[in-house]
Amino acid sequence: LGMPTTRTGTAPRRRTRRIMVGSVPVGGDAPVSVQSMTTTLTADVNATLQQIAELTAAGCQIVRVAVPSADDAAALPAIAKKSQIPVIADIHFQPKYVFAAIDAGCAAVRVNPGNIKKFDDRVGEIAKAAADAGIPIRIGVNAGSLDQRLLEKYGKANADALVESALWECSLFEEHGFTDLKISVKHHDPLVMIAAYRKLSARCDYPLHLGVTEAGPAFQGTIKSALAFGVLLADGIGDTIRVSLSAPPVEEVKVGIQILESLGLRERSLEIVSCPSCGRAQVDVYTLAEQVTAALDGFKVPLRVAVMGCVVNGPGEAREADLGVASGNGKGQIFVKGKVVKTVPESQIVETLIEEAMRLAEEMEGS
Ligand code: SF4
Repeated sequence: LGMPTTRTGTAPRRRTRRIMVGSVPVGGDAPVSVQSMTTTLTADVNATLQQIAELTAAGCQIVRVAVPSADDAAALPAIAKKSQIPVIADIHFQPKYVFAAIDAGCAAVRVNPGNIKKFDDRVGEIAKAAADAGIPIRIGVNAGSLDQRLLEKYGKANADALVESALWECSLFEEHGFTDLKISVKHHDPLVMIAAYRKLSARCDYPLHLGVTEAGPAFQGTIKSALAFGVLLADGIGDTIRVSLSAPPVEEVKVGIQILESLGLRERSLEIVSCPSCGRAQVDVYTLAEQVTAALDGFKVPLRVAVMGCVVNGPGEAREADLGVASGNGKGQIFVKGKVVKTVPESQIVETLIEEAMRLAEEMEGS
């Protein structure tokens, strides 16, 4: 009979413990959240807050900031206080910054077992400080900084090595009664990453933070992340996601949101259904689709807008959408909720679609 599926065709979400990252629930039946990481110097409070504001506007729900120096740690109270979304302090090597981040009011701390040998003796203190503050800790294992002992044992940072590292670090916290944890096991190879998360998911019920690390520039990184997250999320694995791109972090958020929307794990805000164009096209579909997308960017009302190049599939898709255009003979038939409401010259297609989108949005908000 196969696995039961949800309405969207994905497997039911795997039941994980629920933790709170500030006001954002992660795990349990909480919706999958999207996070990113700032690229500014954390010590530059204004620049970091500015970037956090841009990320928030793009839909980012949790933000992580790197804390490599004392100046960065000193900036955390102001950043944690003024950020509109929960701030996670990302800490390697220096246990003292973990305590600084907790005191600063950060919503969580990320530590890396491969880079925290010095931490192991202090796990008890860290667990107590985090428990007293009521904040979770992310155990963030990364293939590029795997514990030397495990590298020797497995020969390379394979899925088993990543999982063992994560569960070992969790066990240290568990010994102190601390289970307010979430885990990531990142690898640059989507196949290894998928295998690691599957194994991890079978062995614990901590919420999982998905990431393909060092995924590459925007185009390659988007494809790797979409593929890996898609496979895992469709299997019900994953509670929060971070797309890593060598590109501005707002792009990471946009990609993350698109992945969730494409899997039906989040309601779409705006969906543009546009055809690839072909020899039958009677209008410049690329330009038209780009203009419509740009004009409706940031539109919050869930609308499906079809931009179609000719009458082959045009009227059908346009009719299925909330709003659409089917082009032909230098004109565009404008559809609203399945009915042709007007036919306009090609030069007026974009403005007419925008007008109709605004009108529909008002109606939907009013209803
Ligand atoms: Fe080609 Fe028309 Fe299909 Fe667009 S809608 S791809 S122009 S056949």
